[in-house]
Amino acid sequence: MSKVRVRFAPSPTGGLHLGGVRTVLYNYLFAKKHGGDFIVRVEDTDQSRFVKGAEEYIFECLAWCGINADESVIVGGDFAPYRQSERKELYKKYAEQLVAAGQAYYAFDTPEEIETMRENRKAEGNGSLQYDAAVRMKMKNSLSLMPEETKAFLDAGKPYVIRIKVNENESVTFTDLVRGELHFENVNVDDKVLMKADGMPTYHLAVVVDDFLMKITHAFRGEEWLPSAPVHIMLWQHLFGLDNMPKWAHLPLILKPDGNGKLSKRDGDRLGFPVYAMDWTDPKTNEITKGFKELGFLPEAFLNMLAMLGWNPGSEQEIFSLDELVEAFTIERVNKGGAKFDYEKAKWYNHQWIQKLPIANYQKLVKEIFEEKGIEINNSVYFEKILNLVKGRCTLLPDFYEQASFFFRAPINWDIEAVKPKWTSEKKDFFNCFIDKIKQLETFTAETIETLFKELATEKNIKPGELQLPMRIMLVGAKFGPAVFEIAAILEKEETILRIEKALQIFEI
Ligand code: GLU
Repeated sequence: MSKVRVRFAPSPTGGLHLGGVRTVLYNYLFAKKHGGDFIVRVEDTDQSRFVKGAEEYIFECLAWCGINADESVIVGGDFAPYRQSERKELYKKYAEQLVAAGQAYYAFDTPEEIETMRENRKAEGNGSLQYDAAVRMKMKNSLSLMPEETKAFLDAGKPYVIRIKVNENESVTFTDLVRGELHFENVNVDDKVLMKADGMPTYHLAVVVDDFLMKITHAFRGEEWLPSAPVHIMLWQHLFGLDNMPKWAHLPLILKPDGNGKLSKRDGDRLGFPVYAMDWTDPKTNEITKGFKELGFLPEAFLNMLAMLGWNPGSEQEIFSLDELVEAFTIERVNKGGAKFDYEKAKWYNHQWIQKLPIANYQKLVKEIFEEKGIEINNSVYFEKILNLVKGRCTLLPDFYEQASFFFRAPINWDIEAVKPKWTSEKKDFFNCFIDKIKQLETFTAETIETLFKELATEKNIKPGELQLPMRIMLVGAKFGPAVFEIAAILEKEETILRIEKALQIFEI
């Protein structure tokens, strides 16, 4: 078998949907599993859909995910250029070859004439409004016109497109690695445009030519491309032969949480979760759409979650690193049916990865979050210790701030309601004595503080459990956080005393 070569072929038209990242991932996993190459080719032939910054953004998303292309517009490669707009000159000869072979034709119809054809078809009560075998001889093209007329149009520079001639009595059959054998009747397929009037190929021609020239062996893409597959296969048959065609896999859709249709950016906005990999700023409106990265997802968790949306390892294992996914992945285990997106499950993966990775892997990111909120981190050893203590309570990276900012900022508000109803002068007395005692403690650790606390409680005849909540409110300000003696030990003696003293004044009121 020739070397496996797969491609991700995005059109730079906006934010990178999580379905796109999953397509990247499955291609990448397959390539790496088989010792092959992963190529990123930018499909930007539709200039009307071009969006500034979208290409750079796609590469930033891949970099965040830790997925490196073997060949791309960035790293280059033997099959450069990897941007279709730079390959423009290359496609024309294939389109001309098809015309010469009678498999495609010049079409001179104006947009108005096409619109009239559609209206007529509608008026005739026709289900289909497309430009196809049923109408092509009534239109203005090199099949319906006399050769001299065609030549005259061409000589006069009349704008034209090149359309594929789909034979309506034939059909297309091919094997999809996920869906098995698929069959399409040509009568439902239109004479798609292959070359546009501006001399640019359409996606349909460019994708086939480039997959051939770049020696692509497997093409995995979203299910939404399935309706285009028959035209692509006809082009392969006409131009390069089916033996050279890549093996196809059309990946299942990622569905809305309720399973009702494809997950869109709008669903994310409506239901309050991200759909894009990273923050995307629309250059026209400046509207920012939130991404998984900026909301505090780790790339390991994001990829792990995506891998499981449409693929299963055939075992109970849910947590996979990228290397483990490379090992476990097989295209046969990709499901046919759509996969419902579940944001809670996505967060669950992130929580798992926060526990699994060493703090050092994400400490810098958390530090940035603290600094954005005005807390300078100078002692990274101390910081790491704190992050370790609270990580079990964190799902997204900003949770670290919620869970640990009190270590750096003494409370200015206290949940007094939690203390007041059971606050007594005996308890106040206990804490005053406690301050005196801890002043004398030589080693100030969670264990020594706890022992002292419990002994003093017994001496004062108060249940330690009744004193721990007030102590927590004194140190944290609220009813959360790790074990209270651990907190005290990390705050150290002086700060612990200050916080207790301050709170005692407040509780008085
Ligand atoms: N350019 C297409 C896209 O934007 C690629 C489809 C394919 O992989 O063939 O998704």
